[in-house]
Amino acid sequence: MGDTLRRVAVLGVTGSIGQQTLEVLRREPESLRLVSIAGGRRVEEMIRIAREFSVEQIGVTNEADREKVHAEIPDVNVVVGPEGLESLASTAEVVVNAVVGFAGLPATLGALRSGARLALANKESLVVAAPLVNSVRGNSLSEIVPIDSEHCAIHQCLANSSVGHPTVRRLILTASGGPFRGRSVSELREVTLEEALQHPTWSMGPKITVDSSTLMNKGLEVLEAAALFGVSVDRIDVVIHPQSIVHSMVEYIDGSTIAQLSQPDMRLPIAYALALPERFDHAWGALSFREAVDLSFEPPNRDAFPALNLAYAVGRRGGAMPAWLSAANEVAVEAFLSGHIAWHQIVPIVEETLAHYVDDPLTSIEALYEHDAEARARARDLIRRAP
Ligand code: NDP
Ligand code: MG
Repeated sequence: MGDTLRRVAVLGVTGSIGQQTLEVLRREPESLRLVSIAGGRRVEEMIRIAREFSVEQIGVTNEADREKVHAEIPDVNVVVGPEGLESLASTAEVVVNAVVGFAGLPATLGALRSGARLALANKESLVVAAPLVNSVRGNSLSEIVPIDSEHCAIHQCLANSSVGHPTVRRLILTASGGPFRGRSVSELREVTLEEALQHPTWSMGPKITVDSSTLMNKGLEVLEAAALFGVSVDRIDVVIHPQSIVHSMVEYIDGSTIAQLSQPDMRLPIAYALALPERFDHAWGALSFREAVDLSFEPPNRDAFPALNLAYAVGRRGGAMPAWLSAANEVAVEAFLSGHIAWHQIVPIVEETLAHYVDDPLTSIEALYEHDAEARARARDLIRRAP
């Protein structure tokens, strides 16, 4: 790397992506300096991280936690809530948004408004607010560098090209298929929480792990790719690739398909987003090829995993509908994680919630918060009445 020290904020620092980002930072003290962190419930862990990295700012979710942090480390500036999260995004040159769910939106908007690079793991913020995010992006010096492995792969495969370039035909997202790949609709009625939390190739936080088991994660990623690369969902395809070694591909009009390959290790896309335009010399995802490597591909089973078609339909209608999809899914996944509904009820609850959506082009952040609240209320109501 060059000899400049980049100031980094890691929002969602206590989670799976947050902790892996810290591993990258520990290896690159000459290039990266952690200045701001934020998290949710794991306050003790945040205090420990703040001491280890001598951070300047911490974001917490409530006043009681602010006092707790202040009592332990009085020199550190503590900010609270969504406004705090948004303000932290302007303290750094690179903002890693590793918050889970809708709660990550202020971090995305704050980074884009401040002109920082947004190293984006929080796909939900891009999905729910695509029209708003893209209008802020249009007036901003910021760039978004995706951490989500598929989008990071496409970023690399496009190199200096863009999806809008006439030589690019389509984007192909790979999906592991999750723990229930190959199961029939009737077998899927019996699956348990424990099984849903056993991802075959990646170790991740609980929400995205459940999303991977329903393929809603891939549906959200189709919407994420559409927003990120400015392309319609109909130029994005999904292929099941159980080994999670090919992380995604770009097909060009002459028939060439360019892929990015590596071991499934999130430190690689995290490091990529932190180092660009350079690369760190750590080779986290390197493939040795000293032993046989089998790569296989198959089409997704859209009947057994209806979340995928649902996401495409939502993407075609656009406006605030993706916000409804994401909100209803968050509520349904929480209900599944807390034992209130069965796995096979998650996607039908999302679909039934969407039936109440009335088209709206989504022109303001206030409207987005209203849509989010209404979709959540509808989904909760359906869950209460679920058999
Ligand atoms: P985790 O559940 O492991 O971590 C979520 C983080 O968000 C935690 O630090 C949590 O804090 C924090 N958080 C939750 N609510 C708030 C809030 N209101 N304000 C501030 N912080 C909050 O999730 P992951 O790390 O797995 O995922 C994070 C994001 O990255 C998701 O959007 C996911 O889709 C995406 N992603 C993750 C991948 C992975 O490999 N894990 C791969 C690709 C994308 P606390 O724990 O202290 O409550
Ligand atoms: Mg992904």
